[in-house]
Amino acid sequence: MTAQLIDGKLIAQQVRDEVAAIVAKRTAAGKMKPTLATVLVGDRPDSAAYVASKGKACQELGMGSISEHLPADAAQEQVESLVRRLNADPTVSGILVQLPMPSHIDEERVLSLINIEKDVDGFSPLNIGRLAQKGREPLFVPCTPYGCIYLLEKSGVKIEGANAVVLGRSNIVGMPAALLLIGKNATVTVCHSRTKDIAGVVRQADILIAAIGKTEMVRGDWIKPGAAVIDVGINSVPDVTKKSGHRLVGDVNFNEAKEVAGFITPVPGGVGPMTIAMLMKNTLHAAEIQDR
Ligand code: NDP
Repeated sequence: MTAQLIDGKLIAQQVRDEVAAIVAKRTAAGKMKPTLATVLVGDRPDSAAYVASKGKACQELGMGSISEHLPADAAQEQVESLVRRLNADPTVSGILVQLPMPSHIDEERVLSLINIEKDVDGFSPLNIGRLAQKGREPLFVPCTPYGCIYLLEKSGVKIEGANAVVLGRSNIVGMPAALLLIGKNATVTVCHSRTKDIAGVVRQADILIAAIGKTEMVRGDWIKPGAAVIDVGINSVPDVTKKSGHRLVGDVNFNEAKEVAGFITPVPGGVGPMTIAMLMKNTLHAAEIQDR
């Protein structure tokens, strides 16, 4: 293996420890306890598990958590009035609406209602708009791309001037990751399902962020020698050697890419743990904004 492994689990733990230390100081000083309110609509088991792990992280870091659950047939107005109530609640620092919501709910309308000062997921149009504008700062950066950039910076990868390629243009990962890289003075190419010769584009990348959800699509011979590879993909493949019958792999063929890249994140244990760590950091930041 030539690549240096970027240990997301370790770096995420460091972020969590830093957040917990600041939270403890705040609490001792009698300041508001940073508190995350999660909104879950419906009964998707994966969404319920994500929401539960976010609540657990809050507890572990000494923060508060409120979990709101509406039934799958909840009306748009019910979801909207819940968000309005959480906006007005001074004990709530951050609001996270778990996506996807049932198809009859207009997600964009719900997200756009979240008070920008409580938008710890960073998905409200106002935060994304600020991220996209030169000279403006978002109050919150979406957690997964924030984690990707944090991993690069912690690993000493130079972003300024680098050729960066982002695979995927979703609102949640690809697009904000590209905007963050531009903000840090990388030259950015975004690839998506209609891009021609993706392998050829990826071969130019000093930094690659792969977020497409396609099992090990990026092969070792696509990687520029020495490149930094951040693999966001989470794909489940059958594996009879595992008790669960499956294992998780990324969008990058790790075994091939690690022989060529300069830096690489594993799956699992790379970007995954960073997402919740950055959510905790954002929730603390929300409480700090509300102190003012
Ligand atoms: P989406 O499905 O929303 O977006 C996928 C993107 O990939 C789209 O822009 C799509 O293009 C593009 N794409 C799909 N197939 C191809 C292809 N064959 N070639 C090129 N581009 C393609 O996914 P997300 O952004 O939500 O998630 C991406 C991956 O990251 C998933 O595996 C997901 O599980 C994982 N993830 C991991 C997180 C973590 O914490 N580690 C958090 C969030 C996501 P187009 O726009 O043209 O359709």
